[in-house]
Amino acid sequence: MTQRYSKILLWKLRNSISIEMLIADILKQPSKISEGYFRFLCPICSEFNTAINPKTNLARCFGCGKNFNPIDIVMSTKMFSFTQSVDYLLEISNVK
Ligand SMILES: [Zn+2]
Repeated sequence: MTQRYSKILLWKLRNSISIEMLIADILKQPSKISEGYFRFLCPICSEFNTAINPKTNLARCFGCGKNFNPIDIVMSTKMFSFTQSVDYLLEISNVK
């Protein structure tokens, strides 16, 4: 099923869409700046015990231990399938 999209396209979606912008501005997932760090409401355990790593463009929840790349966070917050999430990211970004 993942063969529907090229590896390069998936890499671009995971790396060129800012995870912070995606969570705060596109998905409108509750988020805040706490002690200088961006924190978001974990869609799995509903805690703010989270952080993002701009270097790897991953969001992490320390509560449930889940790491989210942009595709994962769309799947979890919108209850989308992998394919729906990729299509959604293609729509909201200029990734081709
Ligand atoms: Zn969590």
